[in-house]
Amino acid sequence: MARILVIGGSLGGLFVANMLHRDGHDVQVLEKVKGSMNGRGAGIVSHDVLVQSLERAGLDVQATLGVEVPGRVLLDQSGKSLIAFDMPQVLTSWSRLYQILRSAFPADCYHQGLTVTRVEERDNSVHVLCTTDGNETTWQADVLIASDGIRSNVRQQFFPKVQPQYAGYIAWRGVCDESLLSNLTRTTLFDYFGFCVPPDEQIIGYPVAGSDNDTTPGHRAYNFVWYRPAAQGEELQALLTDADGVHYPLGIPPHKVDWRQLAKVREDARRLLSPQFAEILEKTPQPFLQPIFDVASDALVAGRVALMGDASFVARPHIGMGVAKASQDAVALADAIRTHGANSTALAAYAKVRLPAGQSAVQRARWLGSYIKSPDGQTKPMNVRQHQSIYETAIDLGRYGHQSEFKEYSL
Ligand SMILES: Cc1cc2nc3c(=O)[nH]c(=O)nc-3n(C[C@H](O)[C@H](O)[C@H](O)COP(=O)(O)OP(=O)(O)OC[C@H]3O[C@@H](n4cnc5c(N)ncnc54)[C@H](O)[C@@H]3O)c2cc1C
Repeated sequence: MARILVIGGSLGGLFVANMLHRDGHDVQVLEKVKGSMNGRGAGIVSHDVLVQSLERAGLDVQATLGVEVPGRVLLDQSGKSLIAFDMPQVLTSWSRLYQILRSAFPADCYHQGLTVTRVEERDNSVHVLCTTDGNETTWQADVLIASDGIRSNVRQQFFPKVQPQYAGYIAWRGVCDESLLSNLTRTTLFDYFGFCVPPDEQIIGYPVAGSDNDTTPGHRAYNFVWYRPAAQGEELQALLTDADGVHYPLGIPPHKVDWRQLAKVREDARRLLSPQFAEILEKTPQPFLQPIFDVASDALVAGRVALMGDASFVARPHIGMGVAKASQDAVALADAIRTHGANSTALAAYAKVRLPAGQSAVQRARWLGSYIKSPDGQTKPMNVRQHQSIYETAIDLGRYGHQSEFKEYSL
């Protein structure tokens, strides 16, 4: 039995912690957030690999993972369906996945309120320095797995040149209760994975469980992600500044979004989106926004320290792979540790498999998002390339990696 430390107790960290715990190791998770982590994220599209990873972690939850849709629908700005096709898929949410993974992991091995500040490797082990309420503690392990997210401290320490690159656009996100919606929206959009594409922008949406993970019709919710260009500089700064003038360069907390920005995005929704999506924007109590970034690492491992999840790669959400990719990283790490033991050889074997996978996910998602850009002042019909990338996004969001599917499309 090896001693393994996991930094970050979100979805990526919990995936790997559950798998390694199941393999008989002493696994300790160090998470900086104190108290409840629920209500953090919104909807998450699920891929087959996500379900396979849950099974690998000993969790058979397919039947209760989320809400199933029969297919995709693309609405025009008047609300008419332009394209519809069958593509069954289950849509889940951050909180449902967190609940599943957290309840399967021993509570006394999940430590909250600990911020990792420094990692050192010596005497064939890793030493981790943490602060908690102003006090310092040190933890020791055979290997360390850093799943500490896009602003990873560990990546910053070992690979400081790798920095998040702003994509030039943001995503407005939110979740609207099904019971608030009109009959039109419930019958023409709610049950589908929906799209609407105003010039140079894109909104996607899908049904998810409502509060308390309720999937009963009438009690569900609709999750949306609206990608909108925002030039780096003044425009982005205004979006990340609250009504009292406080700027949050690394991301504005949902409850701090300026009410004037909310009023503007709802007004734009009425002008640019189909009435169904505009209604959803109108009736979502607290839409929030996130800038979109790429992170592309060129190394994942330094001795006995490995990066995984968003700490290693962030692909734009157009392939819906963030959590699924983190779960595949976890599988690759658990496999390598089974084969080689908890040591630097295992971590090197992991990197060999996951480095190319991460790089290709980032590249693919960059291509899919590349048509979202500041308009040049003229409204033009969509070109072939835009059509193509919207269609491919619709497929990738369900079956990223099944490249043969893309050939089916022709204008
Ligand atoms: C608009 C948008 C839509 C998305 N949609 C999808 C989707 O449909 N499907 C999908 O799969 N993914 C989606 N994603 C991506 C997904 O949310 C992320 O990829 C995923 O949450 C990454 O998980 P993680 O565990 O690697 O990192 P995180 O969830 O960021 O967790 C990192 C954890 O580390 C902790 N931490 C950080 N620093 C320290 C420290 N120094 N010490 C201790 N703890 C620390 C943090 O508190 C946090 O809990 C989307 C992302 C965006 C922006």
